[in-house]
Amino acid sequence: MYCKNCGKEIDDNSTFCPYCGQQINENTDYYYTGNNNNNNIKKESQVIGILAIIFSALGGWLGIIFAIIGLATYKEKSNRNLCKIALGICAAWVILLIITIFCALI
Ligand SMILES: [Zn+2]
Repeated sequence: MYCKNCGKEIDDNSTFCPYCGQQINENTDYYYTGNNNNNNIKKESQVIGILAIIFSALGGWLGIIFAIIGLATYKEKSNRNLCKIALGICAAWVILLIITIFCALI
C-alpha cells in the first residue's frame, strides 16, 4: 500500500509510514474521513444558505424551505444569519403578495 500523506510505498502491515511518520491505521482513516465530512457539511451549509437567499430573492417558496433546512443544520452564527436574511426576504415577498392581492381586490 501507499502512504496517504507522502505517497511512498510502504509495508501493508505498517502502522507508521517510515518516510514521514504518518500513522497508518483505521483510526487515521476514521479521523481523516471525519474531518472531510465536517468540511463537506460546512460547505453544504453555506450552499444551502446561498440557495436560500437566491430562491428567496427570486420570490420562490424554495427559499423558505432552504432557509428552514439551513436553520436546522447550521451551527455557526454567520451561516444562521444567511438563513435569517433569506427568511426576511421571503417575508417581504409574502407581504408584497398580500398587498398585491389587496390592490387587485380593491
Ligand atoms: Zn508517508
